[in-house]
Amino acid sequence: MRPFEYVRASSPAEASTLVGRSPAATYIAGGTNLVDLMKNGVTEPELLVDVRAATSADVVRRPDGGLLIGAAVSNAELAAHPDVRRDHPVLAQAVLAGASGQIRNVATVGGNLLQRTRCGYFQDVTKPCNKRRPGSGCPAVEGAHRDLGIIGTSDHCVATHPSDMGVALVALDAVVHVRSATGEARALTLDELYRLPGDEPHLDHTLEPGDLITAVELPAPRPARMRYRKVRDRASYAFALISVAGVLETDGDTVTDVRLAFGGIAPRPWRARRAEARLRGGPATRAAFEVAVRAEFSDARPLPHNAFKSDLTVSTATTLLSDLAHPVQEQS
Ligand SMILES: Cc1cc2nc3c(=O)[nH]c(=O)nc-3n(C[C@H](O)[C@H](O)[C@H](O)COP(=O)(O)OP(=O)(O)OC[C@H]3O[C@@H](n4cnc5c(N)ncnc54)[C@H](O)[C@@H]3O)c2cc1C
Ligand code: SF4
Repeated sequence: MRPFEYVRASSPAEASTLVGRSPAATYIAGGTNLVDLMKNGVTEPELLVDVRAATSADVVRRPDGGLLIGAAVSNAELAAHPDVRRDHPVLAQAVLAGASGQIRNVATVGGNLLQRTRCGYFQDVTKPCNKRRPGSGCPAVEGAHRDLGIIGTSDHCVATHPSDMGVALVALDAVVHVRSATGEARALTLDELYRLPGDEPHLDHTLEPGDLITAVELPAPRPARMRYRKVRDRASYAFALISVAGVLETDGDTVTDVRLAFGGIAPRPWRARRAEARLRGGPATRAAFEVAVRAEFSDARPLPHNAFKSDLTVSTATTLLSDLAHPVQEQS
């Protein structure tokens, strides 16, 4: 690993000013992704600005019932928080489906959202990779792509975003609060935060140098049933092959509202807006769920070894929505 300097920032202003003025500086929070990338030479910052004391580590309940989650809240604390477990269980389930207990104790909300792809070529500096070295090529398209994307990808990159938390947050209509290097505050939906690769796959998101994630906001809870389901090669400690976050509201047998998001299939947590639009106001039946979710993949671009992901996502999402629509009554 290249030598680097380390500074522990005590305020958002100090952190974002330090990173904003030097292209060789970057934020570090839990370090569970960044330090791995530094060890294998994917990234070589000269200055690490630790933001754990510069951003909040609290979950605060707002007057309308929404939650403001500080960027330095650990994944473990977020999943265990009573308000999250009661009002947004899909988020607690998604976080607990990721990594291991030890990593969740250290990993933070801000770092989880900005963790980088797990594409093996990206992490191997001996291989070309358009995301790591723009213009060098994408060996995954002809090579190992079973774990990579089928929708939202481009000819230049087919990587997926690895965050489970992000999939639940996009289904919950979360908003990310950001402070710029010059002190302006703004709020972004997750769709606004992440970019699709297009012909600039080295850019994962829309943040500018020095932009600091300070918090994530969840809107007030609604009377919905929700669940996260993750399909992976091992029962634990594995990234998603595919995952589904579903939030369903019904009136009798009619869908009044639905929010659906997928992980493991796209360069960003994928909000299934096409499926949602088909479902709203329609019957809450398994057949209707399957037709709507399949429509989400009408312009998917699967590769030979990952084409199975659309059927897997359709069946997982259909079953999840059916379970939410017709919950099994608990035995008395
Ligand atoms: C073995 C292993 C298995 C894993 N399995 C899963 C899994 O199944 N699902 C899953 O979702 N994740 C998984 N992870 C990823 C893990 O959840 C992430 O590494 C972690 O969430 C990153 O958080 P961090 O605080 O350690 O980020 P860091 O590593 O410190 O930072 C990550 C990135 O975020 C930036 N950053 C950090 N904080 C901020 C901020 N406030 N504002 C702006 N930029 C910021 C950093 O500059 C860096 O680019 C796994 C990790 C490992 C090592
Ligand atoms: S899929 Fe993206 S990250 Fe993977 S090798 Fe291709 S360009 Fe690099």
